Formats: sequence, structure tokens, C-alpha cells
Amino acid sequence: MTSASYDNNNIFAKILRGEIPSHRIYEDNDTIAFMDVMPQAPGHVLVLPKAPSRNLLDADPVVLAKTILVVQKIANAVKEAFDADGVFVCQFNEPAAGQTVFHLHFHVIPRYEGTALRPHSGRMEDNAVLAAHAEKIMAEL
Ligand code: AMP
Repeated sequence: MTSASYDNNNIFAKILRGEIPSHRIYEDNDTIAFMDVMPQAPGHVLVLPKAPSRNLLDADPVVLAKTILVVQKIANAVKEAFDADGVFVCQFNEPAAGQTVFHLHFHVIPRYEGTALRPHSGRMEDNAVLAAHAEKIMAEL
């Protein structure tokens, strides 16, 4: 079975080109990170390489290596900012695995003992709340 190709008009490609807004918390030459608009917990961040790939399966290993370093940096900042007990890092590949946006991204989500996550792609969070959460995380970077 052949896999689908990269679509330049996916929503994260549009965010990368600045065509639609995001609550960006980090950017370097290769990577960006911004708030997930439907957070599974307060402080839910997405970390993306700028280079196009649908997901982990077709990504350049050099790009992957750079991205995971930023995932670590963001995970530590999120844990501090939200005083979390732990941090969940996850990533979906193709629709059967739950992927809905087809530009590689890692979810970074604060976790607390005894607290369940909200559903994936559930409720849209208020812009003001996302902006405040982005500020909290940036203060730890
Ligand atoms: P998935 O492709 O299944 O890993 O999930 C895509 C994630 O992107 C979901 O958690 C959505 O809430 C999130 N999302 C969708 N559109 C946007 C957007 N415009 N800005 C930020 N996050 C988004």
C-alpha cells in the first residue's frame, strides 16, 4: 500500500506560512511550538519541524533529531509552568492511528496523578486562556 503525500495546504503548513494565527511559544530555524487549540489539558503544546512531512514515517531523520531536542525543552518548560506531576508526549501516524493534521507534530501535555485527559480534538479553548498559558510557558523557556 502506498501512503498519501504531503499536502501544502494542511492547517499547520498555513500556520507555518503565517496565513492563520497561532499562540506560538517557541521558534528556531528548524522548529516551532504553539498551543493546541483543543487542549487535552491546560498547557497542551504542539512541537513541529518546519520541514514538510506527513508524520514520523516519512520524516528526514536529521529533522527528527532536531525536533526531539525541542520536544524535551518544551516538556521541561510545560512541567515547570503548570507544576505538573508528569508530561505526556505523543504523536500519531495516519488516520488509523488518530492523526487528523498531516504535518508532523508532537503533543506535549502536562499530567497530574489521578486526573484524566480530556478527549483528543475535543473542545476549542478560549483565545485569552491560550494566550495566558502561552505566556506561562514562555516564562520558563
Ligand atoms: P493529530 O493530528 O491527531 O495529532 O492532532 C492534531 C491536533 O491539532 C489536535 O490536538 C487539534 O486540537 C490541534 N489543532 C487543530 N487545528 C489547530 C490549530 N489551528 N491550531 C492549533 N492546534 C490545532
